[in-house]
Amino acid sequence: MHQIGQPLPDGARLCAHDHHPQLIESRGTPRGQTLIGRIVPAQFHVECVRCNTATVPALTREKALKRWNANRPSINQIPLCDLGLVRQRVFDAIATAA
Ligand SMILES: [Zn+2]
Repeated sequence: MHQIGQPLPDGARLCAHDHHPQLIESRGTPRGQTLIGRIVPAQFHVECVRCNTATVPALTREKALKRWNANRPSINQIPLCDLGLVRQRVFDAIATAA
């Protein structure tokens, strides 16, 4: 798996004036997983390292940004330390649907 980060587009919610949240695209399978013969869709999330928070991974960047900009971000956000586990659950749902 590899990840590509980019700044949020203009108009996206900023958590604090000196924070720099990023939109992250994750490609490939999570560590230790294989899904032979299947193309694994990219997952997207927004994270702020200084807030130690990320959005629940989504399959589109638009949905990740929508979760970040939601009026009630606590529903759509998780601690950074849980990101790998939640990403694994999304991957499992994809694999199960295969
Ligand atoms: Zn922040």
